[in-house]
Parts: sequence; structure tokens; C-alpha cells
Amino acid sequence: MSTLCFTMLGIIDELVITVNNNGAAVSLIFVFLDGVGLAPSAVENPLAAATMLNLRALLNGPLTREHVQERSDLLLRPIDAALGVDGLPQSGTGHVALLAGVNAPALHGRHQPNFPPVALRPLLAERSIFRLARQVGHAVAFANAFSVGYWQAIAARRIRRSASVIAAEGAGVRLRDSDDLRANRALSWDITRQAAHERGETDLPLITPEAAGEHLASLAHDYALVFFECFLPDLAGHGRMGAGAVPEVLTRIDRLLGGLLAARRPTDTILITSDHGNIEDDRTQSHTRNPVPLLVIGPQAQRFADVARIDAVAPAILAAL
Ligand SMILES: [Zn+2]
Repeated sequence: MSTLCFTMLGIIDELVITVNNNGAAVSLIFVFLDGVGLAPSAVENPLAAATMLNLRALLNGPLTREHVQERSDLLLRPIDAALGVDGLPQSGTGHVALLAGVNAPALHGRHQPNFPPVALRPLLAERSIFRLARQVGHAVAFANAFSVGYWQAIAARRIRRSASVIAAEGAGVRLRDSDDLRANRALSWDITRQAAHERGETDLPLITPEAAGEHLASLAHDYALVFFECFLPDLAGHGRMGAGAVPEVLTRIDRLLGGLLAARRPTDTILITSDHGNIEDDRTQSHTRNPVPLLVIGPQAQRFADVARIDAVAPAILAAL
């Protein structure tokens, strides 16, 4: 990276241009993990014992409160997801807070599960990090692939648009599909494409989590901001993937991160965070009020050193691009 300083009329105006050695813009890869809190190591915290070799190597221990740390190229801190609103944090409002940088539960009056409150959808479409990043000239990729079945379920009103889809549509960011998956230019929400196989899309080769991580890293070659969301930890934490799913899900995510870390360029920064706790406490199948991890790896890590809440992540990302 280089920093160019201009002195004009006695006023020092610092223009920070972030470029890599080839003159290409640096990228930020945002991995959103639904339902991961940052809690102390304890018998009830599956993150303390799960096989997560890549994260352990990175943090010198598991993804728990004891390993909060700050270095020039690595930051792990707990950030608040409750945002001053009573009750358990939920995804509908939490996703809006993360993607649009607003206190969505306070605006809505409560934490709302699943999908964004109707009244907040226009705000999300107009103020998301996708839209604001594009407005200042950054290319943005939403890495998840959406199946035909997803759009059919939307059309039939069986489900509503997720916050990320509303944000992408509002920003004119392309929503990827099965062809992108086949070309390794998208990721499946479940990382290995197992769900697509189970639906009968058997022409789509299953991949390892590491390969998915490589695909995510390669998108950063063409986009300044790459976003991937994964709901596995929340589903497993709610017990919706069957007994014993939690350790496997944590390992799958760790292997994705391993592939991503190995394939990323040194100029790329990886940011991992969540919307609320869940999987870090196996005494409950509900969300928790624990803080969530903000894990940032790469040259921009220090730009997130003051982020203390999930609604402060989006402005910090925009400042880092
Ligand atoms: Zn949930």
C-alpha cells in the first residue's frame, strides 16, 4: 500500500490510495457467519473444543474470549450485537445493522428474526455497504449462488427476501446462480454444495471447503468488496441439522477459512463477523446475548480497532476500501 500526501495552501490533505504492487485495488472479503458468539472457553462452548486447525493456528488457540488480540495484521475483538435493545438479538434486524450500519433493532423497536422489517427495506436498499461502495466506484461481488428454487420460493411467497438480497438488488449487484457455481465463480451457502446435491443437482460437483475458500479468494481479484454469507452455524445451533452437527459445521467453516487464507493475496483483508450468538452455547438452542467476534486478517486490520458494535462494521468497511 502507498500513502500519498498532498500539501496545498498550507492545508495538509491526506489522500490515502490503497493499491497493491501491481497497481490494482486491494480487496476486502467479508465472511458473514450467522449465529456465532464470542464466549469464554467452557465445556458448553463448542468452539473451545472443535477441530478448527486453521483458526487455532491463526489465533494461537480457539475462537474464544481468551484469544481476543490485536496485531498490525490481525484483530480479534468482541463486538456488541444487542445494540441497547432488550431481548435476544435476531437476524432480520441484525443483518440490516451489519449491512447498512444502522441500529435496526432500535429503529424497529425490537429485534426481529429471519427477514428485515418491511419499514427498513428501503433504507437497506439505499444505504447498504454494497450500494455505498459502488457509488464511490468499487466493484462489489455477492459470492453466494441462488438456486432457481430460491427464486420460486420468493415468487410463491414461501420466503421473503433476505437482507443481503435486498441490499444487492438495491445496489445493482448481480445475484449469482448455479452456472456461476459450475464456473467456480460463486459459493454455495453450505460451502460444499451438499444441499444442491440433495436437491438433485448432481451435475454440480461437490467440492471441499478448502476449494470453496479458494473460489472466494479468487473473486477478490476482480472486486474490491466480496461478501459471502453462511447460515450453517445458526442452523446447527438451533438443532436444525440434527444431533452432532455442531462440531462438523465448525470444522467445515474452519476449512473454508483455511482455503481462503492460503489463497488470498497479501493485499487482501478478510473480515469475519456475525449477527448474534447461538452456536457458542450448547446449553440452549436459542440465540444468546453474547458479543460476536470481529476477526479481521490482513493489512486493513487496524482500521477496525475501534469497532465495538455490529452497526459500526459497515462504516468501517467503507472507510477501509
Ligand atoms: Zn437463528
